[in-house]
Amino acid sequence: MSATPTPACRPELFVAGRWVAPLDGEVVDVRSPATGAVIATAALGGPADLDAAVAAARETFDSGVWVDTDPRERGRVIAAAADLLEARSEELAVSITAELGCPVGFSRRAHVPNPIRHLRYYAAMCADFAYDDLRTDGTSTSIVRQVPVGVVAAITPWNGPISTPSLKVGPALAAGCSVVLKPAPETPVTVQAMAQAFADAGLPEGVLSVVPGGREAGAHLVANPDVDKIAFTGSTLAGKAIMVSAAARIARVTLELGGKSAAILLDDADLAAVVPALLPLVLLVNGQACIAQTRLLVPRSREAEVIDAIADAMRSQVVGDPFDPATTIGPLINQRQYDRVTGYIDQGRRAGARVVVGGDGPALPSDLAGGWYVAPTLLAGVDNAMTVAQEEIFGPVLSVIAYGDDEEAVRIANDTRYGLSGSVWSADEDRALGVAARMRTGMVSVNGRPQAYGTPFGGFKESGVGREMGPEGFHAYLEPMSIAVRSQGGTR
Ligand code: NAD
Repeated sequence: MSATPTPACRPELFVAGRWVAPLDGEVVDVRSPATGAVIATAALGGPADLDAAVAAARETFDSGVWVDTDPRERGRVIAAAADLLEARSEELAVSITAELGCPVGFSRRAHVPNPIRHLRYYAAMCADFAYDDLRTDGTSTSIVRQVPVGVVAAITPWNGPISTPSLKVGPALAAGCSVVLKPAPETPVTVQAMAQAFADAGLPEGVLSVVPGGREAGAHLVANPDVDKIAFTGSTLAGKAIMVSAAARIARVTLELGGKSAAILLDDADLAAVVPALLPLVLLVNGQACIAQTRLLVPRSREAEVIDAIADAMRSQVVGDPFDPATTIGPLINQRQYDRVTGYIDQGRRAGARVVVGGDGPALPSDLAGGWYVAPTLLAGVDNAMTVAQEEIFGPVLSVIAYGDDEEAVRIANDTRYGLSGSVWSADEDRALGVAARMRTGMVSVNGRPQAYGTPFGGFKESGVGREMGPEGFHAYLEPMSIAVRSQGGTR
């Protein structure tokens, strides 16, 4: 195990454009998920800290200091923040891996460039956007104007330390909103660079505050009457609580929640091609990804063959130090997550599933003690009614479920309260497309192809409300306002 890096981190909160000590929050040690060593000392906000951040957001929104800025200038500031982050790319990749535990190659490939791309995308969109649309019915004329929704509370989980924040902060600032970002307490480190980048890029003070904090702090933020919109990514349980709280004043919500996505392998699929393409979609961020493919639906006639192929591929994964370039699977984020994942594996075993490969402990090298490691785990003989098939495990655990025909595969895939992601695998792309189109899910891939950039991201059913990314992700921070005006050339 290499020495644990200690990324740059202030024991302060970014409130109203300044780094400040918490008013009623706390200063905490941040520990490496890989070793348990302290990697940073960070500040978490309490209710008074969040109130101060919301007050600054309200004041800046109402004063018009940002919303009345020419959209091209808003775009310039957001793009400049992206440039400043890009200049620190390697430092940020190390910082993300230090606090999150995912392999550093993945941080370099995804966790750092993706948020930079998102910020640039919304910087360009805000500069070019047609905010006014003139509509007439022949008698009356209206301007339909897109105006910012107001003060936004952005609440994010730990599994994308700057990418999830960027998908809220980018479009919200682009739209002219003021934002209070509350990142998860598990990953309060790298997001500081985003706050600093916006300050250095010239964002007016108070338009953005970044106050990491826990569940209670989040609930307090959501209940603040000066918050007009909550943009939330996290568990379905928390999403429901937020929706209830927001309902009291009809605050707007966008909810990006959990998933239990199905990968449907059709009977003509070429296993040699499927396995290497599918496995990364199962083990994304050490299995801690909302869009992870966690239920593999296989034709009963090919069940044994598929289980063997996936088990072999899982055994060849390298579990270990996330800074070792050979590592493909790092640790889970913390003990709570470790207990949750291993608890589900035990639960599955007790319910009659067979642990073909993985589980905890014995499967791992002994020098990994101290980190929250769980080996990639394959559960076979799973019935879709089992808890392991219905609940989100959020770890490197794949359940194999057998089906009879395509009809049954679609029925099983849709037999879940979630609907976030999914995939269909077949030698015949048209056939796969036909099956994919029948899945009740927000995002589906044929043969593991990535979505085109700018397509909406979000879920059906209990996986959420609203969408991020693309123009949909910009509209999430705008309200249409209809202004009746004198008809062109008319007398009214
Ligand atoms: P979580 O819901 O416990 O916490 C997420 C964030 O919400 C944290 O910042 C937390 O402090 C805050 N929070 C928790 N309860 C709250 C409440 N009642 N009011 C306000 N804020 C509250 O989730 P987690 O365990 O940290 O993250 C994993 C979950 O996030 C998984 O369910 C995963 O599927 C989901 N997720 C979804 C997406 C998506 O885009 N759909 C992306 C990533 C993660």
